[in-house]
Amino acid sequence: MSYSKPKYKEKYGNFIGGKFVDPVDGQYFDNTSPIDGSLIAKFPRSQEADVNKAIDAARAAEPSWSKTSATERSAILNKIADIIQSNLEEFALADTCDNGKPIRETINADIPLSVDHFRYFASVIRTEEGSVAELDNNTVSLVIKEPIGVVAQIIPWNFPLLMMAWKVAPALAAGNCIVLKPAEQTPLSATLFAEKVASVLPPGVFNVVHGFGPEAGKPLASSSRVDKVAFTGETTTGQLIIQYASKNINPVTVELGGKSPNIFFNSVMDADDAFLDKAVEGAVLFAFNQGEVCTCPSRLLVQEQIADKFLEKVIARTKAIIQGNPYDLKTMVGAQASSDQYEKIKSYIDLGKQEGAQVLVGGDVCKLSGDLSKGYYIQPTIFKGHNKMRVFQEEIFGPVVCVTTFKDEAEALSIANDTLYGLGAGVWTRDAHQLYQIPRAIKAGRVWSGGCCDGSCPMIFKRSDMFINETDVLLGYVENIPFYMNQDQFEYWK
Ligand code: NAD
Repeated sequence: MSYSKPKYKEKYGNFIGGKFVDPVDGQYFDNTSPIDGSLIAKFPRSQEADVNKAIDAARAAEPSWSKTSATERSAILNKIADIIQSNLEEFALADTCDNGKPIRETINADIPLSVDHFRYFASVIRTEEGSVAELDNNTVSLVIKEPIGVVAQIIPWNFPLLMMAWKVAPALAAGNCIVLKPAEQTPLSATLFAEKVASVLPPGVFNVVHGFGPEAGKPLASSSRVDKVAFTGETTTGQLIIQYASKNINPVTVELGGKSPNIFFNSVMDADDAFLDKAVEGAVLFAFNQGEVCTCPSRLLVQEQIADKFLEKVIARTKAIIQGNPYDLKTMVGAQASSDQYEKIKSYIDLGKQEGAQVLVGGDVCKLSGDLSKGYYIQPTIFKGHNKMRVFQEEIFGPVVCVTTFKDEAEALSIANDTLYGLGAGVWTRDAHQLYQIPRAIKAGRVWSGGCCDGSCPMIFKRSDMFINETDVLLGYVENIPFYMNQDQFEYWK
């Protein structure tokens, strides 16, 4: 079954104070689809004046929204979940059109997870309680959680609606007002969301300002009239955001890049290949959902003894990936999100070749016919090389996986931890000692661990202070491979 590009309005405004408004100086930018380069719609090229209007609206709404009861906000979050649920296909198509990721992923994972996320925070806010400590016979200390106020949220393009849900649901649940700046590459679903939830949220509680980072994002993150800044995106941008927020001594959350090591030990090899095949499936399908997932296994570390057989299977599985029209339900890998992203990935593929990495599969752009020939498609690519190469060290954020081998646990850990990043990691083994010890020794915010002989994947989490709800869900076409939700947690309390 195949869908086609929906029709959208010619242009959309910013969503401020409960209604759509034109940008102050009347400038718009063209938002195009990476699937075929066609125009989707025009969106405001907002400037500081637009950001200020949105902050005004949020500040005006904040005194009464912050006084709503948790029960009331919970009911509203459930209504929002219902709205997304009943428009699931429309949101899925919008994210596919805007981002280029396959419809099977948006319809089976991104949008249902967004629904679930609003429901989760609708529930969890009902269970949040303060605490009381008796300091001595005459003194008790009451700890009561209060909303933090107005939150600036700046997000990237890789999960347009879901990323927004990760940011928006907990902030609303905790009684805060929001000014959101979506990525300029994917402004569509936040706009459709605003349109559809306008009737359930009081004006000014949720505002959307479109535009580019330096023009709209910077004044938002720098404003002394917001109380917290929440950002997801590139590490270098995150460094700027921290500087902007620090001028106002504002709390800031940054979720940044990754180059996640996934380690495959000898013991993944079993008599009938049942577990080995699961490990291969986990490596390939999680790595190649566009490669546009910050925690995807972009470095595969394989123990020497199993490397030949493991890689033979990984290559065969990668070649079997169906790449093509993202609107087709069979497609597993679609278009990269933008021409900038496409050029960046191409340049890393060239760099890998120059550095002497061996191309095991892919290694080129993917040429499609008809209208799709104007889209941004890259073949799923696997490089074999060593960890000092730049393609092993720098985040490519595309369907490019770098493989290297190791002798023993110590070498595996030294390669895994030899990285600027520390976002995610994976460990695949059937050895109980390794299942317990290796994830703990990897310096990453979270580690997935796959190890049961029956192919199911128990998960070991670490540094759970990063997360409040550890929810594992199944990602679209990946059976039994947990895809771990990343959330901007309850950061919104004073
Ligand atoms: P990006 O940093 O270029 O842009 C992210 C957002 O920041 C966009 O809305 C952009 O307009 C805005 N921005 C850019 N420059 C700005 C500035 N000077 N001031 C204020 N705002 C600015 O990132 P991207 O290319 O959109 O996203 C890809 C990156 O996001 C990758 O590095 C990926 O790893 C990371 N990411 C991380 C997570 C996580 O949870 N850790 C999740 C998804 C993506």
